[in-house]
Amino acid sequence: MEDARKYIANLINASPEEIIFTSGGTEADNFALKGVTYARNKKQHFITTKIEHHAVLHCAEALEKEGHAVTYLDVDSDGLVDPDDVRRAIRKDTALVSVMLANNEVGTVEPVAEIARICREHGVLFHTDAVQAVGQIPVDVKELGVDLLSMSAHKLYGPKGIGALYVRKGVKIAPILYGGAQERGRRPGTENVPGIAGFGKAAELAAAELNEHREKLTRLREKLIEEIFRRIEDVKLNGHRRRRLPGNVNVSIKYVEGESILLNLDLKGIAASSGSACMSGTLEPSHVLLAMGIPREVAHGSLRMTLGASNTEDDIDYVVDVLEETVKKLRAMSPLASPGRC
Ligand SMILES: *Cc1c(COP(=O)(O)O)cnc(C)c1O
Repeated sequence: MEDARKYIANLINASPEEIIFTSGGTEADNFALKGVTYARNKKQHFITTKIEHHAVLHCAEALEKEGHAVTYLDVDSDGLVDPDDVRRAIRKDTALVSVMLANNEVGTVEPVAEIARICREHGVLFHTDAVQAVGQIPVDVKELGVDLLSMSAHKLYGPKGIGALYVRKGVKIAPILYGGAQERGRRPGTENVPGIAGFGKAAELAAAELNEHREKLTRLREKLIEEIFRRIEDVKLNGHRRRRLPGNVNVSIKYVEGESILLNLDLKGIAASSGSACMSGTLEPSHVLLAMGIPREVAHGSLRMTLGASNTEDDIDYVVDVLEETVKKLRAMSPLASPGRC
């Protein structure tokens, strides 16, 4: 466990004592928000964004129900948060700002270092949900200047059900569970030793392979984006063109339903998603795309593809072939594509 803690700390340039193991990214996010709240015995104000993962958004909503105030910041059409909006939203009673490092749906990488600097100037704590970023892009807690940072092992090829919260030395945070004295009295419960060992190994490998992994995924991503645009008409890339996660492709394909594309891709052995993976199965368009100002009907035709370490150039060719054929077929049947027919 202590070896794992060192590998994880090393991956984000923290000290091992600053790493607290949790049951995953969701608990790390809840721990950050609630832990800061409960460390102070008063009503507080929080700032977050409309594009956070539900682990942050739903936790913020729960804090509102407890009488705390929350400001949900808008993003621009690329999904970027404006640091000046954070500055303007800070109040005397603001306890914490939480802005994700990279968005899980559209891959946009947020200007976290700049936002953290603004928070520090105002004496406000700053948390970032870095679940999507750790292991994909360089993450250095000192360079970013963050106080709290969430991670999850399964997003970097580790096991599911294990994560961690980085808590900068000196930051006061109350436990959100009560029990024994594990994790220096901050997170009780018998430790998930196999999970922790797997997380440690994943962190060790991620640190060693980060650059190679990032370059490979970026190359595949560019090929996938370019081929989709070359072969399919009326598509739009969602998320920032360059400030994005190496393996993330999110496109809106007009005149077709995302769910229909997904079903067809699935039949051909291609796993994709129409929004966040956790929301697949629901028909509500993504809250992230809506916050970016994408019209409902276009958001419905959105498709998220995430590339990973085992993907190859051949996979990209196969996906584009299947996608082109699927879109052609669906558009031929779509009343949206040719309104005159119905
Ligand atoms: C996956 C994810 C989470 C949740 O992590 P779990 O370990 O699955 O609970 C939180 N935030 C982001 C951005 C994620 O992508």
